[in-house]
Amino acid sequence: MIDPLQSGSGERQGPETCRICGGDGRIDNSFGNVAKCPSCHGSGKRAQDLGFHDVTKTKASHHLPTNRNGVVEKQTWPSTPVGAQLATQIRDDSSLSDATKERLTRDIIEYEGTHGQCTQTFVKKVRKQLRPAVR
Ligand SMILES: [Zn+2]
Repeated sequence: MIDPLQSGSGERQGPETCRICGGDGRIDNSFGNVAKCPSCHGSGKRAQDLGFHDVTKTKASHHLPTNRNGVVEKQTWPSTPVGAQLATQIRDDSSLSDATKERLTRDIIEYEGTHGQCTQTFVKKVRKQLRPAVR
């Protein structure tokens, strides 16, 4: 003894029938005109997200990566052209250790954060720390 309304299938007209227009793809508006059904766009077929999920059809295809939300990424690269150019020079300098590169790049980012830009004085100061043995 199964009540069709309790079972969840009683109110459906069919698995693919649009529940807004009843399957004919059109609705009558209050002016007496016939308009295309906004839910199924005239196809008469049920839209996928109409109150419940058919897991066999909505499988992850519309899931976009959401891990950017709420995550504050630490800045790892200068935001000004001069700073970025300098950081590139540091990155490409094979005589520097990774730790030194990281420290200098962080110095640039911090300097930018404080001063809003990299001054020529600051650029020269950083460049002095590049290739200390090479003239
Ligand atoms: Zn419809």
